[in-house]
Amino acid sequence: MTVTYDVVIIGAGVIGSAVARELSRYHLKTAVLEKNLDVCNETSGRNSAVVHGGFAYDEGTKKARFCVEGNRMMEQLSKELDFPFLCCGKVLVGNTDADMEQLRRTMEQGAKNGAEGLSLIDEKKLHELVPAVVGKFAMWSKTSGILDPFLYTVALAENAHANGTEYFFDHEVTGITKGEGYVLHTARGDFRTRWVVNAAGLGCGKISDMLGITGYRVIGSKGNYIILNKKLGELLPMPVYPVPSNTYMGIHVTPTVDGNVTVGPDAENTEDFAYYGVPQKKMEYLAESASKLWPHIRKEDQIRNFSGILPKWVDAHGAIQDFQIEIRDDIAPHAVNLVGIESPGLTAAVPIAQYVVELMKEREEFEENPSFNPNRKGIVRFAGRSRAEQEALIRQNPDYGEIVCQCEEITRAELLEAIRNPLGVSTMTGIKYRTRAMMGNCQAGFCQMKIERMLEQELGIRPEEVVYSRKGSWVLSGKLREEG
Ligand SMILES: Cc1cc2nc3c(=O)[nH]c(=O)nc-3n(C[C@H](O)[C@H](O)[C@H](O)COP(=O)(O)OP(=O)(O)OC[C@H]3O[C@@H](n4cnc5c(N)ncnc54)[C@H](O)[C@@H]3O)c2cc1C
Repeated sequence: MTVTYDVVIIGAGVIGSAVARELSRYHLKTAVLEKNLDVCNETSGRNSAVVHGGFAYDEGTKKARFCVEGNRMMEQLSKELDFPFLCCGKVLVGNTDADMEQLRRTMEQGAKNGAEGLSLIDEKKLHELVPAVVGKFAMWSKTSGILDPFLYTVALAENAHANGTEYFFDHEVTGITKGEGYVLHTARGDFRTRWVVNAAGLGCGKISDMLGITGYRVIGSKGNYIILNKKLGELLPMPVYPVPSNTYMGIHVTPTVDGNVTVGPDAENTEDFAYYGVPQKKMEYLAESASKLWPHIRKEDQIRNFSGILPKWVDAHGAIQDFQIEIRDDIAPHAVNLVGIESPGLTAAVPIAQYVVELMKEREEFEENPSFNPNRKGIVRFAGRSRAEQEALIRQNPDYGEIVCQCEEITRAELLEAIRNPLGVSTMTGIKYRTRAMMGNCQAGFCQMKIERMLEQELGIRPEEVVYSRKGSWVLSGKLREEG
């Protein structure tokens, strides 16, 4: 059966989720089609998680404008949507005259872009801010920060959903038919819609082609990372970057909102948009490079690695272009086409989404949704609370008294709330990203099977049906022997 929507958004990364939330302010029947089994399963969950200040982008670009705007609104967004955000600042550390020259240029560019809180600091001030760093001077960006990219995206999506947006996971758009409106084809049925938003991240070029807007060259730039043990977080109060080049920010060390440290990324062009493996050699290279800035990266503290791939729109000569956000009335009216939403897409997501809605409203009047509620509450964390607060939580719900993930102190109550999430996500990583269970030092060695069993029981499914992350990534493949 064909369903009719006002808007269908393709992609449930941070951009698609932010667009969904902005559109839910209006009286529109909106759906999000996502090929994976959860939000934030691609680039939005695979990055440095830094809320950038807006100084690193050319004046007059959308990257600069939306980054500065996104930076300014992050505090308010984190209050409305209840996700972890820390305005901790960040430093770009230099040693040579050439570094100083580049930092001065970066400061000037930042001032033109409207980036706030930038200053050049000497070695003494640098060591007051980050005692364990190596460097002679730095540019300090006071308004830069860090956030939890999973919880941010989940929060945007849950808020959109609470305000009426429908989510369809495991729905890859494989073709688009244009006529009166659009019909989006998926293996699980067709979706008829008046408007389409292409927020497909690494798939933006393919969707653009399906819309008939051809000619975009989108290349992948892969960045690898190492994750360090939580105890290292104490030595790193803010992200530490080297002096950037014009196109690459360099290998940096970044604290996470939970106290881990990430080291990376390097940058290598790739045509394979689905390979996220991190070779040992790359990890060694990352550790060696970042140790020049911050010499605390030991092998025994490396608990995991990951990688992410940026979709970069480049011209015929390979020069990286600005974010493209367009409606081509001549070719694909009522289709918002977003191409090359690379860094700082995480920081800029909400201003980008507001711009998308502005473009749509220039072509159609939208009626406000009087029941729109901007607020959303996340899962209450047990770890880190005072003894009295923890006792109160246990009295209220005895499931807070059972710790399932020992490394991160995650309780049965939190896991059950995650399993019963409003978007209906039922993967192991869906639970992991919503609670931090399985993210600690033992990397799920202790709790993975307990959580797998909880999913079986809660969802009434068989062990062989539990999926780790992607379609077909079964946790268990079958029984070794039949009982009895
Ligand atoms: C290494 C690295 C470091 C970064 N660091 C930062 C940083 O510190 N700060 C910052 O602001 N930004 C950073 N970024 C950039 C930021 O992560 C991205 O700009 C942002 O996440 C892009 O979001 P998105 O929603 O466009 O893409 P995605 O998160 O990739 O979402 C697109 C979604 O579309 C889905 N999709 C694709 N094709 C289809 C289809 N045919 N049908 C249905 N669904 C489809 C995908 O499955 C995916 O879920 C970094 C990126 C990388 C890779």
